[in-house]
Amino acid sequence: MDSKSFLSVEECRNVVDAIVEAEKNCSGEIRVNIANTAGENVMQAAVDIFYSLGMEKTIRKNGVLFFIASEDRRFAVIGDEGINNVVPDNFWNDVCALMIEYFKKEEYGAGLVAGIRKCGEKLAEFFPPVEDDIDELPNEISYEDAK
Ligand code: CA
Ligand code: CA
Repeated sequence: MDSKSFLSVEECRNVVDAIVEAEKNCSGEIRVNIANTAGENVMQAAVDIFYSLGMEKTIRKNGVLFFIASEDRRFAVIGDEGINNVVPDNFWNDVCALMIEYFKKEEYGAGLVAGIRKCGEKLAEFFPPVEDDIDELPNEISYEDAK
């Protein structure tokens, strides 16, 4: 399935709303990128896109990328070092496991929303909201393809 038609207009709106809500409760910055393919290694593709979106530039090193490869039906959730240094080992696995429950039913929009919410809750524990928070990274879904 083409990356741009992976989510309906309504699902896209729900995803962006979930990002906005999550970012109200923590200083982390969440992005969703939908690519067509992941290449050979979905984790590597996610890392490449993380940098190509400039997500390593957050002040607290707490950017989180939900990377989906729509044709391959694969995804990865990765975070910057500020998060990985402090969260438990199962942090990302918990988020992914929840999303897989939805993805199995082909509820991709709902799965992303659930993953973003869970991620936001967890991030709030380690990165509480700060005064004068700025939106360091756009909340819109991006569609960059892995190289
Ligand atoms: Ca922010
Ligand atoms: Ca943001």
